[in-house]
Amino acid sequence: MLLLSGPNMGGNELKYITECIETGWVSSVGSYVDQFEKMTAEFAGAKYAVATSSGTTALHICLLMLGVNKNDLVIAPNVTFVATINTITYTGASPVLIDADENTWQMDLNLLEEFLETETEIRENFCYHKKSGKRIPVILPAHILGNMCDMERLLNLAHKFHLTILEDSTEALGSFYNGKHAGTFGKLGTFSYNGNKIITTGGGGMIVTDDEKLAKEAKHLTTQAKADPMEYYHDEIGYNYRLVNVSAAMGVAQMEQLPVFMKRKKEIIAFYKSALNGVGDITFQKVDEKVNPNWWLPTIKTEKQKEILHLLNANKMQSRPFWIPMNQLPMFRKEIYFNHNDRSDHIYQRCLSIPCSTNIRDSELEAVATEIKKVF
Ligand SMILES: *Cc1c(COP(=O)(O)O)cnc(C)c1O
Repeated sequence: MLLLSGPNMGGNELKYITECIETGWVSSVGSYVDQFEKMTAEFAGAKYAVATSSGTTALHICLLMLGVNKNDLVIAPNVTFVATINTITYTGASPVLIDADENTWQMDLNLLEEFLETETEIRENFCYHKKSGKRIPVILPAHILGNMCDMERLLNLAHKFHLTILEDSTEALGSFYNGKHAGTFGKLGTFSYNGNKIITTGGGGMIVTDDEKLAKEAKHLTTQAKADPMEYYHDEIGYNYRLVNVSAAMGVAQMEQLPVFMKRKKEIIAFYKSALNGVGDITFQKVDEKVNPNWWLPTIKTEKQKEILHLLNANKMQSRPFWIPMNQLPMFRKEIYFNHNDRSDHIYQRCLSIPCSTNIRDSELEAVATEIKKVF
């Protein structure tokens, strides 16, 4: 089976993990955690990075630190992986789902602006949803497939409406906007090292921020909020959301290869674009010229989505439809979904992601393109 986006363990992974096992530093303390955090902060251009057990737990902790609670609303995209929205509900808050832009597949900023202008009001420096009376403290954009929306406009809107930005940049390690790394535009940003992401630690995540206080708090909260080196004194409700040293060792080895992986992802998308642009009705995700995406998961849009999905998977070339839009999932059906003509569903019905592991061979890329062309 040709994996959609599988792990590439071609570097020092085994060496570093063996070292953890030989020295006994396998658990939550160890030098690889510190090293992985340092490398990530440096790469992303953030002052601080705090490793977590997953991207999901990173998002949860960030929302807690921003004071999101059960009477709040958090603005988020309707087209995203479910974890973005789940984490909002972990705090007791509810999402406001904003429809996607038809071409970039990111949160539609025209709709966002319209929602903010017509449905909210500012009172005492907070944004409130007029109809429900609920506070909207945070906006949680997700950089879908490593692409980004017009970040300047998003920052301006967030500023005008007193919204704190938490970036779900879990898909966007290696993505830049005007040379600035994803995850460093908001107060807090997050990465994921799930098995299918651009680098992996098996499972893991990271919080990045320039705010020292938040970084310290993130470390504290993710490590059971233990406040005394000796006594089991915990000064608030904490979480066991830390990344273990074995995973961080893998992370360090993966970070060493990230530039090579980014280069390969760019070669893969360049190949698919040259092979498939103009074939039938196939189009690719639109990317603003200011965005330099990591091209984590090459995705095509076509009316023949279902036929191609069937054909590729039947030929052991793993491909996947887009996420079912959040408003269509049973637990979020009653949430606010701001849209005009449900572009989320339009995108969902037409998009599919095609094989793009960084260790895919050129001949395998050719084979995928050849299969896809058969449908037209
Ligand atoms: C992968 C992903 C997450 C969650 O990351 P995990 O490490 O799998 O918990 C959250 N949001 C989006 C958009 C993702 O793609």
